[in-house]
Amino acid sequence: MIVVLKPHITRDSAVFQELMAFLSQKPGITLRVHEEVGAIMTLTEVYLIGDTSALDKHEIETLPGVERVVRIEEEYRILGRHHDDKRPTGFAYNGVQFAQDTLHVFAGLCAVDTPQHVEEMMKALAAHGQVCTRMGAYKPRTNPYSFQGHGASCLPWVFDLAGKYGIRVIAMEITHDSHLDEIREALEKTGSPTGVMLQIGTRNTQNFELLKIVGRQHQFPVLLKRGFGITLEESLNAAEYIASEGNRNVIFGLRGMKTNMGDPHRNFVDFAHVPVVKRLTRMPVCIDPSHSVGSRDRGPDGILDIQQVTAQAVVAGANMVLVDFHPHPQKALVDGPQALLLSELRYFLDDIAIARDAYIRRAAVAADFLKHHAS
Ligand code: PEP
Ligand code: MN
Repeated sequence: MIVVLKPHITRDSAVFQELMAFLSQKPGITLRVHEEVGAIMTLTEVYLIGDTSALDKHEIETLPGVERVVRIEEEYRILGRHHDDKRPTGFAYNGVQFAQDTLHVFAGLCAVDTPQHVEEMMKALAAHGQVCTRMGAYKPRTNPYSFQGHGASCLPWVFDLAGKYGIRVIAMEITHDSHLDEIREALEKTGSPTGVMLQIGTRNTQNFELLKIVGRQHQFPVLLKRGFGITLEESLNAAEYIASEGNRNVIFGLRGMKTNMGDPHRNFVDFAHVPVVKRLTRMPVCIDPSHSVGSRDRGPDGILDIQQVTAQAVVAGANMVLVDFHPHPQKALVDGPQALLLSELRYFLDDIAIARDAYIRRAAVAADFLKHHAS
């Protein structure tokens, strides 16, 4: 059970103390307080852990300082969307709002290679009004002899260039806790010209120690990719690991499933789960069309498969698109064949805008239908 407090109730207030004293008398229940510090206000929630079935929700709801009481199901206690749950779905990071009703495109390099390529990419993003990108510095590779990413050495110039072109958030995979320290150090050294969203890749979705580490820090939000060979439920539980350690700023990423049933796509596209994840949890949902499709193949109508699956996900309400671009894909050190060209950026963004517009119209029609047919 979660007791959501009124916005102005702080931990040091008498109302809070009295409420805690009351709740702590309940037998077999332990209390855990979570504070969400936002730009405008701090939201405080008290988690009642244990067998809460005997507690009277309405009694607690009438106590001073209580805004609402949410009975939670067993699954995804923190990130889940529970019965009657009207808590917010998102968060703001470095001036960018992420929620289940926003949409951001993170176009960029799968792997950072040269300063020239990074600059060309960021310049193009700035020219198209984009403030987010992807830049891989640590690359988990199948083959030990493949390029593993430039690591810490590229971070200062990548961050400087991001600052130069007004990039506010860089999605960057980490595979080890030392990478978190290296990112912090490089940001400090460069005066934090940009922000970083820590990406946990599909190979690490169930690396529970890494999940706990990114969960214990509050500086960076986390993009957790779905595990490519596990159930959706298992991946959602992995996200809950991060939240249970204290960091709720988690975005869930769909990136396709590993099976040859999806051939000739690199992975079986799983974007039908966009609305499912939004229904089961309060996380914004990201899709990665590049690692799902894995090629620049296009249909007889001229539309790239990468664009098709992106549009399908956006038309279904996706909140973030993580997509590989490269100014010279033939020179890319990782995943060149699936990279879109800078000349395609405008067209790609316009195509997304069409799909987003369709989604907004569909959601309005659905809301109107429900208004008149509410059961
Ligand atoms: C990536 O986004 O660069 C990546 C390696 O993705 P995934 O973990 O989904 O394979
Ligand atoms: Mn890649």
